[in-house]
Amino acid sequence: LTAQTLEGIRAIDPQIDAFLTLNPNAQAQAKAVDAAGVDRAKPLAGIPVAIKDNIVTKDLTTTAASKMLENFVPIYDATVVEKLAQAGAINVGKVNMDEFAMGSSTENSAFKVTKNAWDHTRVPGGSSGGSAAAVATGQVLVALGTDTGGSIRQPAAFNGIVGFKPTYGRVSRWGLIAFGSSLDAIGTLSRSVKDSAYVMNVIAGHDEKDATTADTPVPDFTAKIGQSLQGMKIALPKEYLGDGVDPQVADQIKAAAEQFKALGATVATVSLPHTKYAVPAYYIIASSEASSNLQRFDGIRYGFRAKDVKNLSDVYVRSRSEGFGPEVKRRIMLGTFSLSAGFYDAYFKKAAQVRTLITDDFNQIFADYDLIMGPTTPTVAFKIGEKVTDPLTMYMNDILTIPVNLAGLPAASIPAGFVDGMPVGLQLIGKHFDEATIYQAADAFE
Ligand code: GLN
Repeated sequence: LTAQTLEGIRAIDPQIDAFLTLNPNAQAQAKAVDAAGVDRAKPLAGIPVAIKDNIVTKDLTTTAASKMLENFVPIYDATVVEKLAQAGAINVGKVNMDEFAMGSSTENSAFKVTKNAWDHTRVPGGSSGGSAAAVATGQVLVALGTDTGGSIRQPAAFNGIVGFKPTYGRVSRWGLIAFGSSLDAIGTLSRSVKDSAYVMNVIAGHDEKDATTADTPVPDFTAKIGQSLQGMKIALPKEYLGDGVDPQVADQIKAAAEQFKALGATVATVSLPHTKYAVPAYYIIASSEASSNLQRFDGIRYGFRAKDVKNLSDVYVRSRSEGFGPEVKRRIMLGTFSLSAGFYDAYFKKAAQVRTLITDDFNQIFADYDLIMGPTTPTVAFKIGEKVTDPLTMYMNDILTIPVNLAGLPAASIPAGFVDGMPVGLQLIGKHFDEATIYQAADAFE
């Protein structure tokens, strides 16, 4: 399987540009799994997976798609990578993304532009665009991605596959190159709902190396798959079908609501009134955390260092000026400004308060409902180059995914029809730590 996968990547990827680095030891690792024979402790034995390039892999270049880390070779594995290896999975390579996961189109990669699997003139979404395109083109069955503000769900939607972001704290972030530490989540991009659940069973759980992982038992995420949806209560927020959402996308979601009713669920219209404040609050919080997290890239400790520097300050200034791309610099400036003494109350503190209001909106709905449904994105995948020079329009594309990260909830995007030949994503949002109900509904819908 690994040999075939590598052959497939060599044949398909030159048109897609999803992979940044192939694992030269993949085949040897697969042979070792074969030689060990059948082992029930290895539920993913021999399954090839791709890993987003902001998740560190021992002895395998990890760049976060930034020139800053162009030649960075980590000395340890992220917890998720270690867990996948223990389960017998084979890491075949690292996949492209927006630099430091900042973006919605993978156009912010310092290295290459990944193509949408369905139309090579369109973006694959982002920031986990390489993960999504690699899965959607059949190069791998499953890939790990990360979701700080939609970066698993949006590319999954744009490529017609399943994207799953678990509850914040469900999966260890140890070894994830931090972007917004209070928002970041590692999850899956896969062809089917079940594949996602199988992988989530392996990567979830408390980790003493990540103090934000929850010390709660990990259920079998497949446990409710196959159970009837009879009596399940699903909420459809009116804001998720409102202004800015393409009416044809909205039609697919209304059709999905009818399908859920046919499966025995009830679907009722509700309101999440603070939705419109999510994007501004997110960009202040995420950028503030990023400006702090990215201080470590100083030209000394990791990766890139500017040449012919005169003194220490010159090392810092020139390495960061030359190493970071324009979007990353924009976020560092925005975040540093929002956190600065004179502006903290007006920006960061205000955004944190809005975050609480958004979380309260969700809690109120979840007092009465099992799941929330809506579109994953307002439109289908846009053209390469269409939004890259207009950051605000790019940011607004994430309006439907970002509230979930602010509240730390689990959510999936699953395929729900097409508009003009391009796939539409249906988003299902669950209660904290109730991933199993999302899997149940998503599998029944699929
Ligand atoms: N598009 C959003 C951003 O640029 C989300 C990124 C993410 O989830 N990593 O911040």
